[in-house]
Amino acid sequence: MRIIPPLGGGQWDFNPQIPEDTFLIDYYFVDGRGNCWPDLRAAQVRELAPGDCTLVGMGAVADFRSGFPEGARYQVAVWVEDLQGMEPGGVELGEAVLIRELQGKTPTQMQLYATANGLAAFHLRFKYCHRCGGSLESAESGWARHCRACGEMVYPRQDPAIIVTIFDAAGRLLLAHNTAWPARRVSLIAGFINMGESAEQAVCREISEEVGLNVKPEWVSYVTTQTWPFPQSLMLAYEVHLPADYPDLELTPDGVEIEWARWFARSEYLDAVVSGEVSGPVNHSVAAALVRAWLDNHMGTPVRI
Ligand SMILES: [Zn+2]
Repeated sequence: MRIIPPLGGGQWDFNPQIPEDTFLIDYYFVDGRGNCWPDLRAAQVRELAPGDCTLVGMGAVADFRSGFPEGARYQVAVWVEDLQGMEPGGVELGEAVLIRELQGKTPTQMQLYATANGLAAFHLRFKYCHRCGGSLESAESGWARHCRACGEMVYPRQDPAIIVTIFDAAGRLLLAHNTAWPARRVSLIAGFINMGESAEQAVCREISEEVGLNVKPEWVSYVTTQTWPFPQSLMLAYEVHLPADYPDLELTPDGVEIEWARWFARSEYLDAVVSGEVSGPVNHSVAAALVRAWLDNHMGTPVRI
């Protein structure tokens, strides 16, 4: 079983509709907060102050200031360093759209927009040098920041986090509602990996903290990864199959992060979604891909430990 999540799960894809000698297929403003403005045109982008833009391409980087490379096939998202603080020279931005709710985009396009969002967030957050307090400026075509005073280079990082599908011996899936989410939304247990902690240990700790189950590291197995640059996470997905003799399946939500949690059989989950009792994980997330795989019967089969 192999899951290819929408963001970062496959190779960069080319759009066969685009002739090989053209590039710059999509222009998007992103603001580093998950929003984008999808109706920009090339002419509008060229009106922006040159230092405000970086192009995010097919594994390559083009610097807006040095012009557009020729002969390359790029799918491109554009970020601006601080959309709130700039006057985008005469550019009508129009309505913002949440990147993760864009429709009709390829996995590569979604990953480009997400990458651009992560870079924009990096530039928004890292204004001053951690060594000397000097001002940082964009460097390496927007993929780093540079201290004018001491020369320190700062690079964007992704924080490792775990997300886990937990199944009981009957193949039911544990879904939880986080206090920070809209009402009725459910998803998987997840959390950041602490300093000095392995991913498997983080899985066990998060499950214990959030719903009170005691999971042994040997029950944890790897599934896939997904970048989630909203603003800077790398999600490591695992699954846990509780053995048939697991003593107590009762869940005790921590009440801080997790408001409630329950076991769902597939039919129970589908009925709850149809009736509006719950809504599933957000589009394009690895959580949505994992839940979908479970519904498609690829996961959740009881295994002997
Ligand atoms: Zn410095």
